[in-house]
Amino acid sequence: EKLRDLLLAHIHDVPDYPKPGVMFKDITPLLADAKAFAALTDALAGLCERYGATKVVGLEARGFILGAPAAVRAGLGFVPVRKAGKLPGATLAQAYDLEYGTAEIEMHADAVGAGDRVLVIDDVLATGGTAEASLRLIRRAGAEVAGVAVLMELGFLPGRARLAEALDGAPLEAL
Ligand code: 5GP
Repeated sequence: EKLRDLLLAHIHDVPDYPKPGVMFKDITPLLADAKAFAALTDALAGLCERYGATKVVGLEARGFILGAPAAVRAGLGFVPVRKAGKLPGATLAQAYDLEYGTAEIEMHADAVGAGDRVLVIDDVLATGGTAEASLRLIRRAGAEVAGVAVLMELGFLPGRARLAEALDGAPLEAL
């Protein structure tokens, strides 16, 4: 399809980054291309509308770059989910497992709540750990999950399966 081809043409494969054996998907050429970035923003904003979102959560850091303009385009507020220790107010924290060790993300406790339907936006769904933890934060804050929207899903990793339980029927869209 046309949008998919436009997006794919501006995502570059970088071998052995950030470590040997990893093929990194670099989205900076897409961000630098006005037409592709606008098309991506419009598509993400369209998903906000389709799924009845009232707020957008963006996952640090590339989820900020994609999520913020989509939220503005859709007429919604934007909420950052950050790595632990970066938010100034009272937060909810959620730990999750990495390949080696654990990580922790946080969201301001009052950023979303009852009556909100939240769409989570990020660039890449890999193992699904970050997105899964963000869904737990949203539910713990008392809000509903409208869905997860990513630019790219790495189909050779079990991210979609890992997310299934936390999604609880909400959609996962990979553009
Ligand atoms: P996960 O928690 O799903 O394993 O990892 C997802 C996070 O890692 C996302 O926030 C994403 O930005 C980052 N990530 C993992 N692999 C890639 C990649 O190949 N390209 C980019 N741009 N981000 C990646």
